[in-house]
Amino acid sequence: MDATGAGYPGTWSEFVSWFPDEAACLGYIERLRWPDGMACVACGAGRGWRTGQGRWWVCAGCARKTSVTAGTIFDKTRTPLVEWFAAAWWVTSQKYGLSAKGLESALGLGSYQTAWMMLHRFRVAMARPGRERLSGRVEVDETYVGGDEPGVRGRQTATKSILAIAVEVKEPKGFGRVRLAHLDDVCAQSLVPFVCEMVMPGASVMTDGWAAYAGVSGHGYAHEKTILSASDDPAHVSMPGVHRVASLLKRWLLGTHQGSVSPQHLDAYLQEFVRHEALSNRVGCKAPPPGCRSSPVKLRAA
Ligand SMILES: [Zn+2]
Repeated sequence: MDATGAGYPGTWSEFVSWFPDEAACLGYIERLRWPDGMACVACGAGRGWRTGQGRWWVCAGCARKTSVTAGTIFDKTRTPLVEWFAAAWWVTSQKYGLSAKGLESALGLGSYQTAWMMLHRFRVAMARPGRERLSGRVEVDETYVGGDEPGVRGRQTATKSILAIAVEVKEPKGFGRVRLAHLDDVCAQSLVPFVCEMVMPGASVMTDGWAAYAGVSGHGYAHEKTILSASDDPAHVSMPGVHRVASLLKRWLLGTHQGSVSPQHLDAYLQEFVRHEALSNRVGCKAPPPGCRSSPVKLRAA
């Protein structure tokens, strides 16, 4: 397939020959977006013409001007499309996670801010809102991330973020899909809506004895409660799925983002982590780290 279809180059050298300049990138977006000719959102006319060399088209029916990049991740940015396209290539070819620093150096971008903004738009575009809810048996717990960089001990509580984790438990063993959310607190009014949003009614929801979870049984779930303090099991035995996800997530944040997790960007990171784990399927195939006796999933005061 060549650049006149809706295909995509298979190698970097093909990529470079497909997209040598802005005009080639614009043409590609136009063919993807308007395969049957420019479509006007205002009057529905199916015909128009390009104004000059740029992104702007004029409708033949109502003379409305439309940018071919309007409503796409390339909209309202001064970053050239060739850089956007190269960034897309880089983002989709990374196996070990994404960072703005990595994108900046891979593309030789002049600015960390630009790299960060591009990556942020890719993350939002790749997230899947309205995904199916988890079913069967589901472990649910919370953990904290961020704020434990050396030298900032005094501000830990101000910079830590609360995460809720839901993990499908497969029979006879292994784990299925994962859902994560950034919560304001660990009260019932945060945790119960998290369960309702992420888990199908009829599922069995496994939690510890934290009182905030008591309300889930009123929303169509079978609630299985494990009181950790009353059992000798460490968290990774009674809640192996959430324990596994929490430790993978923390290791991944450290490796990919150097542990610097700003609360306002955490949701984008979480989406990326879930996608990354789904791709590499690591959650489902490994036991908890050997020798791990602590309870990193449980940090709140019970
Ligand atoms: Zn029109």
